[in-house]
Amino acid sequence: MQKKNPPILVTRPSLPPVEEYETLVREIFDSRFLTNGGAQHQKLEAALTQKLEAPYLRLFTNGHLALECAIAAFGFFGGEVLTTPFTFISTAHAIERSGLTPVFCDVEPDYYTLNPAGLEARITPNTRLILPVHVYGNPCDVAAIGRVAARHSLPVLYDAAHAFGVTIGGRGVAQFGAAAMFSFHATKCFHTIEGGAVACGSAEFAELLNSYKNFGYRADDEIREIGGNAKMTEFQAAMGLLNLKYFEREIEKRGKVAARYRENLGGIEGVSFRPVPENVKQNYAYLPVTFDPATFGRTRDEVAETLRGYDIFPRKYFYPIASAAACYRERYRPEDTPVALLASERVLTLPMYADLALTDVDDICEIVAACKR
Ligand SMILES: *Cc1c(COP(=O)(O)O)cnc(C)c1O
Repeated sequence: MQKKNPPILVTRPSLPPVEEYETLVREIFDSRFLTNGGAQHQKLEAALTQKLEAPYLRLFTNGHLALECAIAAFGFFGGEVLTTPFTFISTAHAIERSGLTPVFCDVEPDYYTLNPAGLEARITPNTRLILPVHVYGNPCDVAAIGRVAARHSLPVLYDAAHAFGVTIGGRGVAQFGAAAMFSFHATKCFHTIEGGAVACGSAEFAELLNSYKNFGYRADDEIREIGGNAKMTEFQAAMGLLNLKYFEREIEKRGKVAARYRENLGGIEGVSFRPVPENVKQNYAYLPVTFDPATFGRTRDEVAETLRGYDIFPRKYFYPIASAAACYRERYRPEDTPVALLASERVLTLPMYADLALTDVDDICEIVAACKR
């Protein structure tokens, strides 16, 4: 097989027809209203509140600052946050940058989401918040996490950066916990170029989110919180409105790509996919594949290296786990979360995007299958 030209990257953002974006850009130019909650922003906020079935929803300029503003809105003064190390580093950074301390708890072995079984033992009088991640769009065990939280009167803030459009038992993931953050970065399955949102259950919390993303302003002459700047612009919101229009088609195409990968690789010993719970509607945000070196005969890193030889670039999401990152490892022991550590050594996220050709999927799978020893 020849090298891929152009190379195949782990993801490629979908874009709406450029003429449609031009139309909205003209509207923005005509309005001379570029940010601070203009017409596009208002339309997108309303549309996403409905789409995500959120009681309340506020837009942000990116997911990371959305997470920091959500943490700020709880109003803690220091303390510990129970979270997972098997996530994009943003989750841990948002906690730490908010003056709180991440306490890394292990994940469960099927979905790699925060294991509710280990949570209670890590709760101390300093615990303020539980911050689980719907990793790869696989929802956490929200019922069990909710029970632990309720027993200890702790709020839950979900990092739902990967989980746009995912439903559990027909209910949008935005409905679980006190709040949930979504990322609309260009690499996510719904994007606004850069962007994010926080869904929450109370009007009061939504007001605080507005304040924290806009310097603490509650009204023209009333500055109540020490907020920063995390506002979404009109150009981002316009991109979101168009991507939203095509979102179901996007998911349909991603579903076909995911099915093809499973069909091609599903039967190979030592290669495994995350199971799909019956009551979950997926968004196929990522294509994580786990390689067991004992039965596959090759390590995840060897498979990645082989693919790179064909100009195919998968990613090791998530390696290293947060507790093993250079900026955290002095204070943590990655071995304390053995399931997360093992996942970080074995999972490879293969290329996944809506217009990835099925023939390319077949080629990728052929290369992967040929790695087996
Ligand atoms: C992408 C991501 C974020 C950060 O979102 P940005 O929009 O890139 O700032 C946070 N958490 C997780 C799990 C992510 O994947």
